[in-house]
Amino acid sequence: MKNIAVLGSSGSIGQSTLEVARSLPRQFRITALSVNSDIVKLKQQIDEFHPKRVCVVDRRAAAKLKNSLGHSVKVLCGQEGLDELVRDESVHQVMVAITGSAALVPLISAIKSGKEIALANKEALVMAGEIVMGLARERKVLIRPVDSEQSAIWQSLGGQDVASVKQVYLTASGGPLLSLPRSKFKQVTIKKVLQHPRWKMGKKITVDSATLMNKGLELLEAMFLFDLGVEKIKVLIHPEALIHSMVEFNDGVTMAQLSVTDMRIPIQYALVYPQRLPSALAGIDFYRLSKLHFAKPDLGKFPCLRLAYQAARDLGTMPAVLNAANEASVENFLAQKIKFLSIPKIVEKVMQRHSRIARPSLGQIMSADSWAREEVKRLTCILN
Ligand code: MG
Repeated sequence: MKNIAVLGSSGSIGQSTLEVARSLPRQFRITALSVNSDIVKLKQQIDEFHPKRVCVVDRRAAAKLKNSLGHSVKVLCGQEGLDELVRDESVHQVMVAITGSAALVPLISAIKSGKEIALANKEALVMAGEIVMGLARERKVLIRPVDSEQSAIWQSLGGQDVASVKQVYLTASGGPLLSLPRSKFKQVTIKKVLQHPRWKMGKKITVDSATLMNKGLELLEAMFLFDLGVEKIKVLIHPEALIHSMVEFNDGVTMAQLSVTDMRIPIQYALVYPQRLPSALAGIDFYRLSKLHFAKPDLGKFPCLRLAYQAARDLGTMPAVLNAANEASVENFLAQKIKFLSIPKIVEKVMQRHSRIARPSLGQIMSADSWAREEVKRLTCILN
């Protein structure tokens, strides 16, 4: 029986992870949970799973929870609490389901403590992929991807050497704006952007799906996870989202991974790898499936994907700058401070103004991240 810590348990992936754990009670014990500030959801999860420790990053929310719980559960708070939670000796596996760059430090702690890692967050890899993967190799920690595309590449690779890979097709549903003409992007509302046709996800990632930045971040994620050059990764629009990505080998054979569009499938595989345990979810009914569609992405309509390809060629601190500028701009869009079309404009300006460092330290990556966020603030003021 494995003891699992779920970081970001109130979010979409966190909750799905708990559903998987609930369906496999003989495999897992949830011993630690963390949230940013949603103590209402955390309280329900504590009542059901009885973890030994929890962490609430927001200190005021942590104090509130402590008062309502008594002594049955240890409540930690802040970044240092998250660190303690991850390092705890009784934890075997850590699900990193925190959104955004906040996942980087706990991820590094988990790798350094030699935990099994299921990684749902993509920003940490995008920012510091070389450092994270270097550390994982050094500690012989296998990072099990949870992102459905990365899980598909991992499964399609099937342990083959990356030198035998000719190219990878990173599939994209195309997001909520795929069929909307570019001329209508000017008036696009938050509500429209948040209506994803295939996946039900958190707000940040749904906006990233609409701009295709999500695919851009996944491009960088795949490069680092599988040690692939940018020229080997092709983004492929596939609106049905049944093929979650494909690997074409040198001999012309393509391996694809297909399953229904539900995050519980890649989550379960990451948690129980290398086993194939039964799932409550149905497989694909190929008798009912008539057609699958594919298309090349339109980089003119979705400039964020073009910018991500640029960052993938530049590397160094550029992916961290792309990520931070995007994260801050998406926040501003969700707070109705900027228009949808301003997201790529601001990200591009910030990238152009950045003096890239080729082989950055973690400290230099963090500085590039804060610099980019300040630049976004400045540009947002100018725009308005
Ligand atoms: Mg994905």
